[in-house]
Amino acid sequence: MAMLPLAQLYARDVPDLRPPTGADLLQVLWCPFDHPPMSFMPRTVVFWRSEAAVTDILTTPPEPPVVQFDGYLPEPCLLAPEQITEYPNPLELSKDVRAQLGDWSMWQAAGGAVDSRYASYPEEFYSADLSVAPGWKVGGWAPWGYTDPRPQSCPACDSAMVPLLTIPTFEWDDSTRSWIPDDRGDREHTSPSSVRTRPEGQAVIDFFRAQGIEAHDRGRVPRDARVAPLGTDTVPRQPTAVQIASGQRQQLYICPTSPEHPHTELMQ
Ligand SMILES: [Zn+2]
Ligand SMILES: [Zn+2]
Repeated sequence: MAMLPLAQLYARDVPDLRPPTGADLLQVLWCPFDHPPMSFMPRTVVFWRSEAAVTDILTTPPEPPVVQFDGYLPEPCLLAPEQITEYPNPLELSKDVRAQLGDWSMWQAAGGAVDSRYASYPEEFYSADLSVAPGWKVGGWAPWGYTDPRPQSCPACDSAMVPLLTIPTFEWDDSTRSWIPDDRGDREHTSPSSVRTRPEGQAVIDFFRAQGIEAHDRGRVPRDARVAPLGTDTVPRQPTAVQIASGQRQQLYICPTSPEHPHTELMQ
């Protein structure tokens, strides 16, 4: 069965891609069928390549004769890479920290641009605006919820793996409007990434730092690079038309010590 091209990312557009030595280009392909009993998702293949060595460029990607679901045939999109900072999923935080996130006075003291409509549900501000951005992205934190947090270890060397690429069904929605990409549709896809300033305020950053939690933590990329697809679709939530199960996300993990070790993937 022919593999379908899914994503092509250049290190020059996504500085945190961290390719292995000699490579500057990530190509992800997938087999557009579920793979039961282990996986009810397409199976991905990851290629690290050197742009200079890629000479066999096809102008039209091969169309597969058949895909299992329409949602496994991605709509071609340009990418608008944008660097963002996101905090962990609340499920990865201790009970103590979660309790403090529910304390409105902490957010007020932080002096950030926290919308007062969150006063009754301060933890919603964290979930919606600070933790785990929606959409396609490189690196970042895992969007747990479909399962409980589950550390991923490298099948070859047992190192703790880190998220490489998140393939979501949906981009932002009404509850996550602060994550709408900057300058949507208004940017050269090759322009340098902009850096998003989050609304949390320095006191909140310090609060997380005191808990040992940072976007820089645990060997993850210093900033998480979202690769927002610029679709022509009138439905901005699904520019790629990709659908994983009933609206889940497929997340690829990579070995940080040896990127050439086999990657793993899970549904979230
Ligand atoms: Zn297959
Ligand atoms: Zn490894």
